[in-house]
Amino acid sequence: MMMNGAPIEDGFPAERLFNQGYSYTYDDVIFLPHFIDFPTDAVHLNTKLTKNIHLSIPCVSSPMDTVTESSMALSMAALGGLGIVHYNNLASEQAALIRSAKSRRIPFISDPIFKTPSDSIDSFDDFASSPCVFVTQSGNSKSKLLGVVAKSDWESLSDKDAPVSDYMSASPVTAPSSYSLEQVASFLASKKLGFVPLVSERDGEVLDLVTTADVERICGFPKLGGLPSIGKDGDFMVGAAMGTREQDKERLEHLVKAGANVVVLDSSQGNSIYQIEMIKYVKRTYPDLDVVGGNVVTAYQAQNLIQAGADALRVGMGSGSICTTQEVCAVGRGQATAVYKVSSIAEQCGVPVIADGGIANSGHIVKALVLGASTVMMGSFLAGSNEAPGIYEYQGGRRIKKYRGMGSLEAMTKGSDVRYLGDSAKLKVAQGVVGAVADKGSVLKFIPYTMQAVKQGFQDLGASSLQSAHDLLKSRILRLEVWLRFVQEQLKLKAGCMIWYTMRRNPSEISKLSFRAANHVCNLDPVQCDI
Ligand code: 5GP
Repeated sequence: MMMNGAPIEDGFPAERLFNQGYSYTYDDVIFLPHFIDFPTDAVHLNTKLTKNIHLSIPCVSSPMDTVTESSMALSMAALGGLGIVHYNNLASEQAALIRSAKSRRIPFISDPIFKTPSDSIDSFDDFASSPCVFVTQSGNSKSKLLGVVAKSDWESLSDKDAPVSDYMSASPVTAPSSYSLEQVASFLASKKLGFVPLVSERDGEVLDLVTTADVERICGFPKLGGLPSIGKDGDFMVGAAMGTREQDKERLEHLVKAGANVVVLDSSQGNSIYQIEMIKYVKRTYPDLDVVGGNVVTAYQAQNLIQAGADALRVGMGSGSICTTQEVCAVGRGQATAVYKVSSIAEQCGVPVIADGGIANSGHIVKALVLGASTVMMGSFLAGSNEAPGIYEYQGGRRIKKYRGMGSLEAMTKGSDVRYLGDSAKLKVAQGVVGAVADKGSVLKFIPYTMQAVKQGFQDLGASSLQSAHDLLKSRILRLEVWLRFVQEQLKLKAGCMIWYTMRRNPSEISKLSFRAANHVCNLDPVQCDI
């Protein structure tokens, strides 16, 4: 811009800001607004996860055992994003989680109770979570449905210990599990039913029990307008994490058989001979399967994995909310700098970047995407949702769910040490912590709101798509500054320990700093320590 013939410099182009020897996190930088000439609804967030996988929204759930199992993977795909199922389990268990997500058509997983014909109903508790009990030969979902016992059938019974076969409704009405939500809704309405079992056409297995209340709840969630993530197999797309050891080749076979649409090689420092060899192995053995390499934070690391054949790069080291790698190993990078630097090189090779970790609000998503990422991968942002594994507990009057780093001692004891201890180290040193996050409700509700906020951010920047944002950044039209409001202060705590303290954030978020303060320094309950 010119004023009286002289150019006015306002803000910094990314290229200049990120080349000054500083490492910036998302909170350290802020974009200057640009020019709006389109409505918010004209912003499109459709994107690429990998070279070959397209998504309607740029959201991916982390492969963590407190974030992504079937329910999260299913819901992320229904929203148009993708879930990466963790591998802190046996290969067969991970494959079962993938199958479970892929076998469903609606973003819903129920937990029905099954009995054999000779069983009797134990108590009212059998109906605590569902309006009926299913009767099958095996007493589980794996054999044909023989009958249904509704709560009212059991209530009106004089001999409560009678076997269910005496009074169950035989040949109950069922609906095929291939039905869409709309089809289930009209089926229930036309048959005037309060609930219906969804049964697999392939093997007669009972998948879910859907009630009219479930249908109304799911129909009531805001609509994003984009398409769900459906693979070539016609099922929801689901990703899977795996390691780079010899035995992971066997796990890979399980994952492929289960229908995984993409595999993520899970390593905190991905630039290794092990990962390069595994990328080549995956591409050689399963040429149609996309493989995500990482994690990386530098152009040099990125180049190695791109050359090996990675279809996308996962970026972030030490940026996660529960992560302590930067403190423990003195290695890593500010996430804004890492995303910008890696994206700059990856873009030249047509390799999409997944900005992994450090997302605490919609503004962070805008920053990650505008700085060059194609998707964001989230852990803590999703961990308090209904779809995350684990049950809600109460702490200090607040509903919370556990959230733990995969490099925490607790998770490593269960097996995730391969990600953080690449070799067979006997002494385990944690690179992550255990905490809890507040209840956030369903991802089906808060992700649409989050995406709307991201669209507003794009509109303020004058970018109607990810590509246009990247172009505006590259052409130096979009400008940034370092935001002093977020410069962190050091506070002295009673214990005499120093902790990093940031400005107060969204109260529903437990910041990384709270986790650290809570777990490492003060030994306080993280939820109470939401300073
Ligand atoms: P969040 O979204 O909670 O900020 O970060 C999630 C990301 O943190 C994950 O996708 C993963 O890359 C990383 N992560 C998960 N657990 C650990 C851990 O224990 N240590 C480290 N260094 N990173 C972790």
